[in-house]
This record gives sequence, C-alpha cells and structure tokens, in this order.
Amino acid sequence: MASRKAHHASGVAAGVLAALLVVRAGAGGPFQLWAIVALFAGAWGGTAPDWLEVAWWRSRGQRGAQRLWIKHRTLTHWGVPWVLLLCGSYISLGSAWWAPAAFGFAAGGVMHLLADWPNPMGVPWLFRRHSLAMWTSGSFEVLIIVLSWAACALLADGMLFGGQHTGNMFRALSTLI
Ligand SMILES: [Zn+2]
Repeated sequence: MASRKAHHASGVAAGVLAALLVVRAGAGGPFQLWAIVALFAGAWGGTAPDWLEVAWWRSRGQRGAQRLWIKHRTLTHWGVPWVLLLCGSYISLGSAWWAPAAFGFAAGGVMHLLADWPNPMGVPWLFRRHSLAMWTSGSFEVLIIVLSWAACALLADGMLFGGQHTGNMFRALSTLI
C-alpha cells in the first residue's frame, strides 16, 4: 500500500475537490459549514479502507495480519460500494443533511483505491483484483501525492470553470516550447 502519509495527502486533495463541488451544488449550508465537513471527511476517507479493516478491539499486542478482521485489501478496498456511495451522496447533495459528509468521505475512499491501484497487490474494483503493476509498495509516494492533487485541480477546473484555467496553462506551456 501506499503509506498512510500519501493516503492522507491524496485524501485531502479529494476532500478539497468534494468541498468545491458541495459549494457548487449549493449544499454548503450556513458559512459553507458542510463544505468544510466534506473536506475533513475527505481526509478521513482517504485512509479509511486501511483502518476499517483493523480490529481495534483486539489486543494491542498483536501485530500485522492478526490485528485485521477483514483480510487486507479485500472488502474495504472494493470499488463498488465506494463508487455507489460517491454517486448516491452526490445526487443527494442539497436534499439530505448527511450528503456532504458522505460525499467527502467517499471521495477520499475512491482516491485511496486509486492510490493503491498501481502497486502489485492491486485493488478489487469489481470482482477481481486488478493491478496497474507499475511499482512496488511504498515507492513513488511523492508522485502519488502530486498526481492526486493535479487530478483534483484538473477536475475542479473542468467542473467549475469549464476547463478555462487548464486551457490557459497549456497555452502558456506551448509558448515555452
Ligand atoms: Zn489501502
């Protein structure tokens, strides 16, 4: 797995994106409080697939696999429920009070799976585990963090400003070449 730190950093990126979308959907509530909740939920959701499988109620003396009640990278890393939660909470924005928090949490969770995807163990998106097999666990942490922020910035620009800033950036870059 990518380290906790990398998951945290990419979860925050997902949280920022979720918060922006909550604001856009007009579901921010008083002082955009729900948007802020979505941001924190994103950071929390970014590490969720890893801590949800830990049996915190078992003795602290046990380590590794013994402390897990769900086999590592199985149920909590399954793509279907995370994506369903993401879609369900998105369409509920503005009508259900829990939607912004759930949306941020799901955005963080999906981001977690994306960050785990390239390493050899892979992620069970649908039925079978799939890996992009690009690198070993724990390497390219910085790349994961940078990519996650870049992806969220692109998505935010595309969804909120019609890709205006991205277009400008590419035009500026092309003048350099
Ligand atoms: Zn993981």
